[in-house]
Amino acid sequence: MNLTNSKQLFQHAQQIIPGGVNSPVRAFKNVGGTPPFIRHAKGAYLFDEDGNQYIDYVNSWGPMILGHAYEPVIAAIREKVSGSSSFGAPTALENKMADLIIGMVPHIEMIRMVNSGTEACMSAIRLARGYTGKNKFIKFEGCYHGHADMFLVNAGSGVATLHIQQVPGVPEAVAQDTLTAPYNNLTKVEELVAAYPDEMAAIIVEPVAGNMGCVLPNNGFLKGLRKICDDHHILLIFDEVMTGFRLAQGGAQELFGIKADLVTFGKIIGGGMPVGAFAGPKEIMEHIAPAGKVYQAGTLSGNPIAMTAGYALLKALHDNPGIYTRLEEKATYLEKGLKEAIGSEGILNQVNRCGSMMSVFFTEYPVTDFVSSSGANNELFKNFFHGMLDQGIYLPPSSFESWFISDALTTEDLDKTINASKIAAEKAKS
Ligand SMILES: *Cc1c(COP(=O)(O)O)cnc(C)c1O
Repeated sequence: MNLTNSKQLFQHAQQIIPGGVNSPVRAFKNVGGTPPFIRHAKGAYLFDEDGNQYIDYVNSWGPMILGHAYEPVIAAIREKVSGSSSFGAPTALENKMADLIIGMVPHIEMIRMVNSGTEACMSAIRLARGYTGKNKFIKFEGCYHGHADMFLVNAGSGVATLHIQQVPGVPEAVAQDTLTAPYNNLTKVEELVAAYPDEMAAIIVEPVAGNMGCVLPNNGFLKGLRKICDDHHILLIFDEVMTGFRLAQGGAQELFGIKADLVTFGKIIGGGMPVGAFAGPKEIMEHIAPAGKVYQAGTLSGNPIAMTAGYALLKALHDNPGIYTRLEEKATYLEKGLKEAIGSEGILNQVNRCGSMMSVFFTEYPVTDFVSSSGANNELFKNFFHGMLDQGIYLPPSSFESWFISDALTTEDLDKTINASKIAAEKAKS
């Protein structure tokens, strides 16, 4: 059997891997068709098993902020890997990584490395509960904090894409401590806190949401959450798995000038390797085992190859702060171009953007929460998505995902994308 093209590979994959993929959104369920199987990537471009080349706006869902196969990361991994790929013992590299991150991100004094964003968020909630002695927490509709049981309530990303209302396998007893409010709705948060005055351990939020498409916090929303938390001895957790090291070196805390009590990381932090982390002030973090009693562990946590990749990428971001200005310029250029090109076809659209995160919504109304995001025209999105893919532009295959702009994109790439969007929009109408 010669499984060389994506179609054949996907057919075989569906026989041996549930849905043919190891993470749901990759299966193209929302947009239909066959996902290209990727062979390799370099800079701004993906190359699939069928010989096609794409301009990449997924960038591994964030980590490839400087483009694929970024030379300093690749070189560092090559050099390190010959000294063994894991020890399960402390290394100097972990200190180096922790020092670098604590120097880049405001308000954190200690950090614990884990292996994914999911692990980071579930551990942060456990810590918040252990530290405050309270059980309930608030999350926002359409936000995604990984696939741990307690987060799969009104969750965004793949859960929203697949229209799963209630996830089988999540016990009600677990879900009942997860309270949800619409994004950008402080009144609802205040009501929930008032309803459970002594039970709220934490509020966890994507400071810029990326899992219901890109949705920005309204002026005063994050500040309002900070105040509610201060008034009620609740920990404010910024889930910066997407926004960390992307919106600024210090993430959303730096960009908006708001202090979180705990911060979670993933995606960029591993430079493309499976890494997550949670961090905060010493006073809270020292409750984590073995310093404290809140247990958390990982056989491969702080893995030397993963730390090497993450360190090389973060160091590049640290040493070249101009990258963020460049990303902003590229993203602004793209935002403006897309709005005009799609609009010129008479299609009403909203482009939400913060730094190098953005989403196009086919709707005339502002998108500020999950309900308004869900109200956008998904038929148009599907057609537009395939129109772009056919022209070699690789977008996230769901309108509940953010696009990620990388610094590898050239003006030529952006112009190509804008021109393609006009053609895709024209086709999408019919
Ligand atoms: C991707 C993501 C997660 C989950 O991270 P994984 O590494 O996929 O487990 C959590 N929170 C946010 C905001 C994310 O975007």
